[in-house]
Amino acid sequence: MRVKQGYGGLDRFRLIAAVLVIAIHTSPLLSFWEAGDFFLTRVLARVAVPFFLMVTGQFLLGRQVEEKKRISKFLRENLLLYGIAMLLYLPIGIYAGHYRELTVGKLLRMLVFDGSFYHLWYFPACLLGVPLVYMLEQRLGRKGAGITSAVLYGIGLLGDSYYGLIVNVPVLSELYEWFFQVCSYTRNGLFLAPLFLLLGACLGERRNEGRDRRIGYLALAVSLLLMTLEAFLLRYWKLPRHDSMYLFLPAVMWFLYPVLLEWGGSPSRGVRKLAAWMYLLHPAMIVVVRGAAKATNTSAFLIDNSMIHFAVVTALSAAAAWAVSMSLTTGRQFCRNRCREENTVSFLQGSCRRNGQENQNRKAVRTRAWIELDRAALRRNVEFLTSRLTEGCELMPAVKAEAYGHGAVLIARELSRLGIQAFCVASAEEGITLRKNGIKGEILILGYTHPRLFPSLARWDLTQTVVDYSYARLLERYGKGISVQIGVDTGMHRLGERSEHSKLIGQMFQMFRMGRISVKGIFTHLCAADTMGEQEQAFTKKQVERFYQVLEVLQEQGIRCPKFHMQSSYGILHYPELGGDYARIGIALYGVLSTKKDTEQWKKFLSPVLSLKARVATVKELGAGEAAGYGLQFVAGNPAKLAVLTIGYADGVPRSLGKGVGSVLIRGKRAPIAGLICMDQTLVDVTGIAGVRAGDEAVLIGRSGEEEIFAGDLAEQAGTITNEILSRLGARLERIVVER
Ligand SMILES: *Cc1c(COP(=O)(O)O)cnc(C)c1O
Repeated sequence: MRVKQGYGGLDRFRLIAAVLVIAIHTSPLLSFWEAGDFFLTRVLARVAVPFFLMVTGQFLLGRQVEEKKRISKFLRENLLLYGIAMLLYLPIGIYAGHYRELTVGKLLRMLVFDGSFYHLWYFPACLLGVPLVYMLEQRLGRKGAGITSAVLYGIGLLGDSYYGLIVNVPVLSELYEWFFQVCSYTRNGLFLAPLFLLLGACLGERRNEGRDRRIGYLALAVSLLLMTLEAFLLRYWKLPRHDSMYLFLPAVMWFLYPVLLEWGGSPSRGVRKLAAWMYLLHPAMIVVVRGAAKATNTSAFLIDNSMIHFAVVTALSAAAAWAVSMSLTTGRQFCRNRCREENTVSFLQGSCRRNGQENQNRKAVRTRAWIELDRAALRRNVEFLTSRLTEGCELMPAVKAEAYGHGAVLIARELSRLGIQAFCVASAEEGITLRKNGIKGEILILGYTHPRLFPSLARWDLTQTVVDYSYARLLERYGKGISVQIGVDTGMHRLGERSEHSKLIGQMFQMFRMGRISVKGIFTHLCAADTMGEQEQAFTKKQVERFYQVLEVLQEQGIRCPKFHMQSSYGILHYPELGGDYARIGIALYGVLSTKKDTEQWKKFLSPVLSLKARVATVKELGAGEAAGYGLQFVAGNPAKLAVLTIGYADGVPRSLGKGVGSVLIRGKRAPIAGLICMDQTLVDVTGIAGVRAGDEAVLIGRSGEEEIFAGDLAEQAGTITNEILSRLGARLERIVVER
């Protein structure tokens, strides 16, 4: 297991970077030492914005899963913040005369590139740079995106610090003049941001282990020295038009960032927020200080002394930032407390099994018998299955039956982190448990819910399957709004009205017109997609045809059905081309398939998520001819050694695996099950395995050394399918998520 890396260093440097930005805008050393001020504000402080961009790049880009969703969330939030900041600075901008002679072109330039106040350019730069880099990476890969960003940075350089080089070159200077009509600077989302966003994404993924720190520091010092030299030379030659981009700046950042990553320390949301608000508010504080100085006639002291000016602005900005972030936090806490009260109420009503799993997980220390869930394997399976979906189709994982024995809350939580927003369960109880543990998004109950539980459906925002027409009328009669999806029986003859019945369409029509239930979708289940025989293929084709017929008729009748779906695990593997809005994937998501043979066939693409383990309680020596266990069903032919394991059939190990049918792994070797499996314990024969002792780990499903046992092996030995083995794994097993 890997210890999670802390990003405390990054958080603390945010504060430094925010102060550096304030320095850029207040020039602290100006009244004492001009060259020193140039070094501080035009060289050193130029690391601040690239640093912010790199942090954004690290946490936003590059990691495939959830990337799109993370990005769109980031863009939404930044757009909102940009909007608020613009409103905040609107009066100041008007006062400062920024909006005089405003043309449409100027307004656009302001919104897309420059920002409406001098420091706000950062927002449009992110809003433009992030999707740009994402698109470049999608199209050209990491390397292509890197080269393109570097070229863009180069173009930007010539419009920034190196402007003097091209100002007299005929065509080029005109081209740049044209650029400057579109954006006043090349410091923006097009030329500056992409390179640093990408650098952040690259460095964030790299592990620093084993690299020599001193070399890192040395490289940082050398690159900083070179950048300083560069800046002073450019100034001497009077080349810059603006001074935010240097040739050596990316190098400085490349060596600075790992140092900050290594700083470590615990991450602090508070510091992060403080830095962001300081950045956002400091220009307003500059205005405040200037106004106050004017009003009180203290300009000579407050403004003209650049150091005092800087100090006062910084202090005020910090105070204002602190006040804002505190009041926001208090507001949020207030809301949270109210939620807690709500939970207490449901607790008093006796319906609260809240956080049961969470607590269980915290306690879980692999003491007796337990399940380990491999987070990376789950992610790989999600990625693989997602890659097989048709355009517009989303995963709706089946987390019924404790996510096939894995642990519904743990799995749903992991999946939520991977960006999944829809789940299906078997019962209302299961849906409520997910909700109580904070799972968001659509939760579809695939099975029957007793009318006595209808209030819970509304209360917990669960979507109910309409199991037949009369059930729909029951739901409607309940009165309160309930979301439903209509099940259609295309041949399985389980739930849903039969698709070939002529009255179906009329009933559908009725259901869509019912005022209280709201139809969110319609689905069917393919029940023969797991086998690719001629008959099964023909049957599946028939089911799909029938389903599409229903959809077509609905469409002809002018009913727009919100969502439709039919796929589950085997459908996605065998018929990936079938459309739909959701794929209700169960077994494949957990990295296995129903049979051993199928699991083996797809094992290149699917990784088992679950391991089942127990402890050796004690080891027993048996003489030749001695017997062991219930019914004395094990008899030692020769002297033997038995290990007693802390797991039995009550934990879900099939009793039929006894008498040597099944085996477990201890110290990388196979130990056959000896005699009959007990309710809470199992004897295994470890005669051939050296050094087995109490406390050792025994693997019933999973890997040990070179050996591996699949859930499919147990299924085959027990004469059933993997699904049954997994979903029967007991409630008293500890369940934990591990990082391998
Ligand atoms: C269980 C279930 C699924 C998931 O099936 P898998 O074969 O495990 O992917 C999908 N749809 C319905 C209706 C189900 O009951």
